[in-house]
Amino acid sequence: MPSLNDRDMVRLQAEEFESASLREILGWAWETFGERAAFGTSFQGAGLVAMHTAYTNGFRFPVFTIDTGLLFPETLELKTQIESRLGFTIESLHPEQTVTEQAAELGPELWKSKPDLCCSLRKVIPLQKKLASLDVWITGLRRQQNDTRENIRIVELYHFDVLRDRYIIKLNPMASWSRDQVQAYIREHDFPVNALAARGYRSIGCQPCTRPVADGESERAGRWTGFDKSECGIHTFLGSNI
Ligand code: SF4
Repeated sequence: MPSLNDRDMVRLQAEEFESASLREILGWAWETFGERAAFGTSFQGAGLVAMHTAYTNGFRFPVFTIDTGLLFPETLELKTQIESRLGFTIESLHPEQTVTEQAAELGPELWKSKPDLCCSLRKVIPLQKKLASLDVWITGLRRQQNDTRENIRIVELYHFDVLRDRYIIKLNPMASWSRDQVQAYIREHDFPVNALAARGYRSIGCQPCTRPVADGESERAGRWTGFDKSECGIHTFLGSNI
């Protein structure tokens, strides 16, 4: 296994993977890290493509999602459909407090007054706890999704406080894929997608913070309308991105 603190290894691997296939990238992760690598998914199309490719090639990575307690019923239905289609159980990570408990302590509808705090409590902290048990976090991030994602690399090395003296790899095997490529793959394999997509939703998160987008808007324009916020924090909290 390569050293997870080896910055040169990560840089070289990222460059090499720019010309590799999705199967080759995922195969490397499986052969190198096995179940110490896991998919984190919110069931967006690109992540579904990566999961489908992994499982049809025998790379049986664990899969987890963050259930904030505020997801759309259509998203929860899609989770069930994917579990049935691919034959595995997706682990749901939960915040420490229910929405009701959070409202009692911090006030109702925290997402309207302090969305960063709400995302931290309901998404970032549960994710950090999970990542502390892994070597590799596999995402479905794509460069075309938003300005904040245009410079992501296929392999990134991160450190954050919970990890103390070690690093983890964040693997973005879908980084170079376009939305059209993702949709073509899903159509070709007749894979289920979120029913909200047919109603204009592109990037789908919690119900209070997601709206459909119009033609010409960025894929993530429907998130946190009215706030200067385009990321929940799970892709930006990590301290040392090299
Ligand atoms: S997306 Fe909205 S509701 Fe969900 S955790 Fe973030 S602020 Fe809270």
